[in-house]
Amino acid sequence: MIVNGIEIAQKINYNTQIKLREIKKRTGKVPCLAVIIIGENIASRIYVKNKIKTCENLGIISKKFEYPADVSQSEILNLIYKLNNNKNITGILVQLPLPENLNEFEIVSKISPEKDVDVFNPINLGKVFLGNFDILPCTASGILCIINELGIQIKSKNCVIIGRSNIVGKPIALGLLHKDATVTICHSYTNNLCDICTKADILISACGQRNLVTANMIKPGATVIDVGITRHENKICGDVDFENVVNIAENITPVPGGVGPLTVAYLMKNTLILFEKNKF
Ligand code: NDP
Repeated sequence: MIVNGIEIAQKINYNTQIKLREIKKRTGKVPCLAVIIIGENIASRIYVKNKIKTCENLGIISKKFEYPADVSQSEILNLIYKLNNNKNITGILVQLPLPENLNEFEIVSKISPEKDVDVFNPINLGKVFLGNFDILPCTASGILCIINELGIQIKSKNCVIIGRSNIVGKPIALGLLHKDATVTICHSYTNNLCDICTKADILISACGQRNLVTANMIKPGATVIDVGITRHENKICGDVDFENVVNIAENITPVPGGVGPLTVAYLMKNTLILFEKNKF
């Protein structure tokens, strides 16, 4: 089947909204998400716009902090320091990637672990590594949710992930490993990518290369999850050659309308979880 990510995300958002209303009624409080966006990356701007719009729809306050690409490291660190110490801020999201002049590791390390809504801080990533976490990075949660919605048991499945980034590839690999999958992580130096992919019961591509995943790489009956987002001739594309792979895969996520809406839904859900955990 072709997975309808929009529909699944709507269900998650509905549940988040109900809980938010209930908390507001009981305490008079609502969460507040701070979003920091730096530079002119068009894709990042679209993502941030969607995230802020969804906050509005669900009743989460959002505060956007925009900076030009040449902003100094110290200015961003200073902002994060202030947000960490502002008790009205529930979650802090730094939209990645950052311009090259900024030290990403230092910036994400300074986000308070209690406000780290997309799990960038090394302390929280360590908890993900150990399998002892409150929240998973939003995209990894979204992917696990899709697999769950499809009724697929993860245990003992061969899962192949293309991409090893800290925000998508590695967290989803760990999420699947903690659910007893056999996980293979591929990257740009992997030999025989095609052979490895043909063994996958669940194939997840998160590399941002249009049409990298072709029909000959798919095991009949596999579930194919396309995380990639690239722009080609004014169209948004994934990593998977959808038109041909759809005939072989048992399940496939489209781009757009697959993983993307779930990433946003889990950003909202993670904000709610931090709000409840940190006693508002
Ligand atoms: P990165 O650029 O950080 O990572 C890309 C990964 O893909 C790297 O590990 C790289 O390998 C690997 N890779 C690149 N080319 C190949 C290749 N030809 N063969 C095998 N592996 C390859 O990207 P992100 O992880 O941040 O994002 C990946 C994609 O997912 C992007 O298109 C991004 O826009 C999209 N995205 C979508 C989201 C959604 O909600 N749908 C959320 C977040 C991201 P190496 O490490 O060796 O360089």
